[in-house]
Amino acid sequence: KPLVGNLIGEDHVNYVLMYNMLTGIRIAVSRCQAKIRRPLSDEDFTACHKYSFDIIGNELTPSAKYDFKFKDYAPWVFRELREDYFHLDPADYLLSLTAKYILSELGSPGKSGSFFYFSRDYRFIIKTIHRNEHKFFRKILPRYYAHIKTNPHTLLSRFYGLHRVKLPHGRKIHFVIMNNLFPAHKDVHETFDLKGSTVGREYPEDKAAQNPRAVLKDLNWISRRKTLELGPEKRALLTEQLGRDSELLKSLNVMDYSLLVGIHSMRRGNRDNVRSNTLKLFSPEVPVLRRKQTGKGPKSPDAIAIRRIMRESDLQPVGAGSFKLPEEDTGERQHFVFYQDDGGLRATDDANKDLDTIYYLGVIDIFTPYTSFKKLEHLWKGMQADRHKISPVPPVEYADRFFSFMKAIMRGGGGGERFKSE
Ligand code: ATP
Ligand code: CA
Ligand code: CA
Repeated sequence: KPLVGNLIGEDHVNYVLMYNMLTGIRIAVSRCQAKIRRPLSDEDFTACHKYSFDIIGNELTPSAKYDFKFKDYAPWVFRELREDYFHLDPADYLLSLTAKYILSELGSPGKSGSFFYFSRDYRFIIKTIHRNEHKFFRKILPRYYAHIKTNPHTLLSRFYGLHRVKLPHGRKIHFVIMNNLFPAHKDVHETFDLKGSTVGREYPEDKAAQNPRAVLKDLNWISRRKTLELGPEKRALLTEQLGRDSELLKSLNVMDYSLLVGIHSMRRGNRDNVRSNTLKLFSPEVPVLRRKQTGKGPKSPDAIAIRRIMRESDLQPVGAGSFKLPEEDTGERQHFVFYQDDGGLRATDDANKDLDTIYYLGVIDIFTPYTSFKKLEHLWKGMQADRHKISPVPPVEYADRFFSFMKAIMRGGGGGERFKSE
């Protein structure tokens, strides 16, 4: 499955949904953003702001192309997360997500049926999630928030918003907005989705040879004899943070998450230009949106920019042409230890000197509680293979195995071999 999406035009099956999502975000986020900041209260974590859109419009919502309802969950909490801990500039955020042009679609890469959409500048991902994941996220939001606050350098997905669109015939679509771990300006030459489980965790190597964008798994990592090349300094930092993050996941009683690893080889550089080449085929001739440097930390909302965004009531369908992606990494990533080197983590040798590889790392897909369904899957898969090596194991075991595997695959960690079953 490709890592690069297709731009969505008016004829696309998900055009209306996309339009509604973006319109909802634009209005809801700018409404919240326009108010004066105040300290969070407990109610902010359970809050839900409702909007109703139609072609006529009212004082709260401008007219829209379609009828739909929109819910914005815990808007004040996400606002604080974005501004204080994720270092996003509010106007910037809205521009990336909702300025005139429609996102590209990654389709449904996982088995879960979730859909993924990129913002046009590739910085953000919209992921549709199951109602249960949504409920779960709302339940644990106070703990997620507390973790982010005390772990500014976390490797966990950074969630910027939680929303719901309801279509007129009643279909409800829940979605989150999160950081795209992979940069727009660098080719990712190899991608791995690692869990520390080895049963069935293999992407067929013959197919991988033909598909440079394949998402490889644990067994591919082991058979390709890969190592996370990190010197003592970065290794210690990464281990510490991964340990803390997996402790949180353990206590949330979740499992099935993975460490996504994108590898950029500086020797190969960007000559394959995987992303931008593909995008050129589908995208419109548009100027790159002005983006302010956000290096100096969060700014107060730029009222003029926000008002302008609110006025832009229509998304434009796309045609053919070229589409320029940002050439270098700007913005929030420089605030985070593991995303500082060209948006990622540069490999180092034993003397902590730079090597020619950049890693793009993060813990993704973190909202799967160990429910009765997973318990059954555990029993079933466990009858056919080693009960401890399959992917659905209970959360404590999952987290410990995950953490040991990640330590093992770092240089000097002994490798992932011993996680394999006979
Ligand atoms: P399943 O539950 O079957 O594993 P899912 O639909 O929950 O699938 P994820 O595991 O969240 O999907 O993600 C699937 C793939 O999408 C990942 O392996 C990765 O290639 C890509 N992906 C997911 N999140 C990100 C992200 N934040 N940045 C970059 N790529 C991502
Ligand atoms: Ca997954
Ligand atoms: Ca999932």
